[in-house]
Amino acid sequence: MRGDNPRILVIEDDRYIADFIALSLRQQNYSCQTAASAAEGLFLFQSNRPDIVLLDLGLPDRDGLEVIRELRGIRETPVLIVSARGQEKEKIDALDAGADDYITKPFHMGELMARIRVAQRKLNRETYTEGEIFSMDDLKVDPLKRQVLVGQEEVHLTPLEYRLLLIMIRNRGKVLTHNHIAREVWGYGESESTQTIRVVTANLRRKIERDSAKPRYILTEIGVGYRFADE
Ligand code: CA
Repeated sequence: MRGDNPRILVIEDDRYIADFIALSLRQQNYSCQTAASAAEGLFLFQSNRPDIVLLDLGLPDRDGLEVIRELRGIRETPVLIVSARGQEKEKIDALDAGADDYITKPFHMGELMARIRVAQRKLNRETYTEGEIFSMDDLKVDPLKRQVLVGQEEVHLTPLEYRLLLIMIRNRGKVLTHNHIAREVWGYGESESTQTIRVVTANLRRKIERDSAKPRYILTEIGVGYRFADE
C-alpha cells in the first residue's frame, strides 16, 4: 500500500457532483482525480492506477456496464457505482457485471466515506477469512465449531441459513445482489427465486437479530439485495 489513504478516480459527467465529491474527498486527505467521460476515465485508470474508482453509470459516451467490464478486464480495482434513485435494475446489472458496491444520489458524504472504507478493506485484504471467529456486538460465529452465539445463547441454524450468514459476514459492508446470494448459497446454474432468499433471510434474522423489524446485522437494500452491517 502507498500510504494510508487510497487514490480515488471519480468518473462523473455532472461537473457539480464531481467537484463536490472531489472537494469532500480532498478534505478527508484522499487524493482524487475527476474524469467527465468514460474515455477520459479509462485513460486515467490506465495511466494513473487509482486505488478506488467511483463510477457514474449515466455517462455521455459509453454505456456504464461496458465501462465496468472494461475496468474489470484491466485490474481488480474496487469500483463503486454512483447511481440515480430508482434505477434498481441498473444497480443490479452493475453489481453483477463486477462492480463492488453502489451509492445512490443524493447521498451524504458520511455514507460515501463508509463505502470507501469498505473498499479500502478489500484493498488491504482485511477481509474475514475462513475459520476465523467472527464477533460483532452480541453475535459470535465460530466456524471451526460451527457454532453461532447470540449473547450467551447458542442458536441453531439450518445449513442454508448458516451458509448465508457466512457469505454475508465474509462480504460485510458490501451489498450482495439476490443473484450473487443465489449463486453462492445454492451454487452455480440454479436460479433460486428472490422469494426463497427472502424466506431464508427472514428465518436467519429471526434467529440472530434482537428485533427483526429493526435489524442490526442483516440490512435490506430495497430491490437489490442485502448488506451485512459494517460497524
Ligand atoms: Ca451522469
